[in-house]
Amino acid sequence: MIEADVIHHLRAHLETQFPKACAHCHRTFAHLHDYLLHTKHLGPVMPYDVEAGDWRPTNPLGIMTYANCECGNTLVLSSKGMPLPLLWQLLLWARIETLKRGITATALLTELRERMSREILSKHHPHSAAPAAPPLKIEKPEPAP
Ligand SMILES: [Zn+2]
Repeated sequence: MIEADVIHHLRAHLETQFPKACAHCHRTFAHLHDYLLHTKHLGPVMPYDVEAGDWRPTNPLGIMTYANCECGNTLVLSSKGMPLPLLWQLLLWARIETLKRGITATALLTELRERMSREILSKHHPHSAAPAAPPLKIEKPEPAP
């Protein structure tokens, strides 16, 4: 597994947690892009199993990432519900990378979160306030009524 695959799998998993609502202000985030646009990351990504020394948890505590809603409430996204074989594969990748890069799993996953956020926010999206680039316009004749 390479970093791009890891991001792909993590993103696919995180998207399953949307739509997501803030319990305090009841704002609803339609998808991950919307969430990243309107919340602020709060602290590093927390790989709780790894911090407990377990890289292959059978009953995972999970990986969690916190964010502040615009109202100030704390929101969380997690690895909860991710199939174990996938979680283990991701943690195996993380373990190898932490050794290669000489950084902690927390630092590694936080870097990964930043990269994923940049990638998602840089892509044009209908809900984006400032698209990076306008989409190509292809002129098509109007269909006959
Ligand atoms: Zn809120």
